[in-house]
Amino acid sequence: AEQRLLRSEKLSIAGQVAAGLAHEIRNPLTSLKGFLQLMAVNKRESEEYLSIMMAELGRIEVILGELLMLAKPQADRFATYDLTLLLDEAVSLLNTQAVLYNIEIVVTTASDLPLLFCDPAQIKQVFHNFLKNAIEAMPKGGRIAVDIRQDGSDAVLLRFADTGCGMSKERVAAFGEPFYTTKEKGTGLGSLVSRKIIENHGGELRVQSELNVGTTIEVRLPVR
Ligand code: ADP
Ligand code: MG
Repeated sequence: AEQRLLRSEKLSIAGQVAAGLAHEIRNPLTSLKGFLQLMAVNKRESEEYLSIMMAELGRIEVILGELLMLAKPQADRFATYDLTLLLDEAVSLLNTQAVLYNIEIVVTTASDLPLLFCDPAQIKQVFHNFLKNAIEAMPKGGRIAVDIRQDGSDAVLLRFADTGCGMSKERVAAFGEPFYTTKEKGTGLGSLVSRKIIENHGGELRVQSELNVGTTIEVRLPVR
C-alpha cells in the first residue's frame, strides 16, 4: 500500500508540472504571437517589440532548461568527484553577482572530506540554485555561509545559510512545489529541481527559515 501511495503522489506531481508548464509556456507564446501581429501592422515600433519578444523567448528557454534537469540522472555520468571543487565552480559563477549586491560568500570545508559518487553537472546545478536563491533573498547585501563536513562514515552534510528575507512557515512547507515563486522573473522550478536531484542521489533536504532573519538549507548526501 505504501508503494502505491508513493506512486500516486509522483503522478500528481507530474500532473502539476504538466499543467503548470502548459500555462507558463502559453503566456510567453501568446505574447510572442501578439507582438508578431503588431510588427506586421506597425513596422516603425518593431524594434521595441523585438526586444520584448527576445525576453519572452529567454523565459521559455529558462523554464525548459530547468525542467530538463528533472530528467533522471544518467548512470554513465556518475563518477567520484571532489565536492569542494564542484562547490568552488558554482561559487565562482555567481561571485560577480554576489559582489554587485554586497554579499559575502564564505565557504568552510573539512580537510578530509570523502569523494562523492554523483552526476557532477546535477550537483553543481543544486549548488547554483541554492546560492542564487540566497543572493536573491538579500537585495541589500548580507552573507552566505556554506559549509561541508563529513556526517558519519558514509555521508556528507552541506549547509547553505543566508541572512536574507527568510520565508514564512507556509512557504517553507511549500518549498519544492512546482511554479511557486515570489519573484517577478522567477520560475518556481529551482527548488523542485534541486529536491529531485538530491532524491536521485539518495540524499535528504531540510529547510529552516525565519522571516527577516534568514534561511538555512541542509543537504545530506550519502557518499556512495
Ligand atoms: P524561483 O527562485 O524561480 O522563485 P525557487 O524554486 O528557486 O524558484 O524558489 C521558490 C521560492 O522559494 C522563491 O520564490 C522564494 O520565495 C523562496 N525561497 C527559496 N530560497 C529562498 C531563500 N534562500 N530565502 C528566501 N526565500 C527563498
Ligand atoms: Mg530559484
